[in-house]
Amino acid sequence: MQQNLLIIFAAIWLAMAAGSYMLFQKGTDVVRKRKLWPIFTIVNNVVIGAVIVYAQPPLPMMVGLLVFMVPLTWLTIRSTKFCDECGSPSRSPFFMKPPEKCSHCQKKL
Ligand SMILES: [Zn+2]
Repeated sequence: MQQNLLIIFAAIWLAMAAGSYMLFQKGTDVVRKRKLWPIFTIVNNVVIGAVIVYAQPPLPMMVGLLVFMVPLTWLTIRSTKFCDECGSPSRSPFFMKPPEKCSHCQKKL
């Protein structure tokens, strides 16, 4: 039973990684990417949060990790921009300010 749950988590995570690649790297619909990116990031982090809860670390550690994930999720959403010109995602490290130029075609974002 417990192993099945872990396999389900792994399957969800892999499906999301593949979906993310197809949608955000290969896709060309910038409007749809911008709309789906925050939802996708939140769902992805909720899955990670569920794995943390499932792993049952000591309570203070679990609470600390889950609390830490909230600003991390927000910063991840903020630090990724999609280019109007070519639709490519430009990311900056989550602790820095959002990118200002497209990493692909150098157009201002
Ligand atoms: Zn571009």
